[in-house]
Amino acid sequence: SSFPGLGLDPLITNHLQTKMSIEKPTSIQRAALPALLSSMEEDTSARDVFIQSQTGSGKTLSFLLPIIQDLLPLSSLSYIDRSIGTLAIIIAPTRELAKQISDVLEALLQMRLRPPDESADDPSSGPRLTRWLVSGLLTGGSTRQHEKARLRKGVPILVSTPGRLLDHLQNTASFNVGKCRWLVLDEADRLMELGFEETITGIVKGLDGRRKLAKQAVDEGSSMEVGGWDWERRRRTILC
Ligand code: AMP
Repeated sequence: SSFPGLGLDPLITNHLQTKMSIEKPTSIQRAALPALLSSMEEDTSARDVFIQSQTGSGKTLSFLLPIIQDLLPLSSLSYIDRSIGTLAIIIAPTRELAKQISDVLEALLQMRLRPPDESADDPSSGPRLTRWLVSGLLTGGSTRQHEKARLRKGVPILVSTPGRLLDHLQNTASFNVGKCRWLVLDEADRLMELGFEETITGIVKGLDGRRKLAKQAVDEGSSMEVGGWDWERRRRTILC
């Protein structure tokens, strides 16, 4: 069994193979990818997905790859309006874990897209996905002011520790999460053991509240449309 057989875009599978030397899916990836990819369709019941697996089993790619595939259509826009805000949030229990996830994510976002000119001889001359999708890491490692400035500019995919994320949801007005469509709780059991239950509840409430406001703005006719992007889809939650 191979990655293309699991429903991943060939752009992604080529990048995995040629740039990250990842050729064959692990067993958790074989199980999780089809479930998560199909959860992207609106009328599916599989909205919240549990991935139960040991560290080292390839869990990180199991949730990052479907998110990237989901956000890939944004690259058909001529530019990404930074006001689209944050579309995916990954929460990890420790700074070290958040940094590891962020490193894998950055390696994935280096992938090249098809050249705009179909007849280009060299398919590797296409633009990198980072032109549309930028990742950000919030772990309290830099000053709050610095993080706020980054969030104001818009960070499509965010990796964070729980406390700092809640802090920004409550205190950073320009942190736009009204269209967030993925929430990953990595090592959810450890998040609970470390006492983050209330923080996570606060985060989910914050996301729901911002989403409601974003929807209201649309109902009142202010345009939240971004290139025909189906941003109204309900948020998917992944627990690992
Ligand atoms: P994780 O369980 O996500 O922490 O991944 C553990 C290690 O396995 C990481 O170094 C990954 O780069 C690597 N890895 C993940 N998926 C695959 C795969 N399908 N084939 C080979 N290595 C992989």
